[in-house]
Amino acid sequence: MARTRRKKISISTRMNEHPNVFREDGGIMFCNYCDLSVEWKTKSTVDGHCLSKAHINKKEIYERNEQAKKQTTIFTINTASKSKKEVIEDLEKINHLLPFFKKYLKEGGAIPQAPTLCQLYLPHVFEKHFSLLQNYFNQKSVAIIMDETTDDCSRSVVNTLFSFRQNTKLVSVDFLN
Ligand SMILES: [Zn+2]
Repeated sequence: MARTRRKKISISTRMNEHPNVFREDGGIMFCNYCDLSVEWKTKSTVDGHCLSKAHINKKEIYERNEQAKKQTTIFTINTASKSKKEVIEDLEKINHLLPFFKKYLKEGGAIPQAPTLCQLYLPHVFEKHFSLLQNYFNQKSVAIIMDETTDDCSRSVVNTLFSFRQNTKLVSVDFLN
């Protein structure tokens, strides 16, 4: 069979030339960052797009957002795993710091004490945090893994793990009688 000497250029060729930048949809090549279709047949057009100011800006914004998203995930999971008792204990630390705030901060005397924080502010923060979690998990699948095993004292244990996106977390360890 006769073969043409020139390599056949396709969207995949361009996608390989710029990894993770483009996607193919119905024979059209789209830039992931700009959400624009880019003419792929000519290499210089594609290269030109990647070097354009608009593309570079969009890419930077995208990467910054991804970073922020990652940090929110870690923050959400860390705070969600704190029990109410731990939060209250943390808030109580404020009482020890109040004299310091009063002395060294402008308006430092206006900072409320732990009971006020617990009664007035905590419910509000909780509501906000709760709806944040609801939005975060909304319509997304969470895998719950339960596994029975024995610990090093040969007691039977049931481990429960939640797996969501890239995160897997051990949420409870129950000993069986
Ligand atoms: Zn672009």
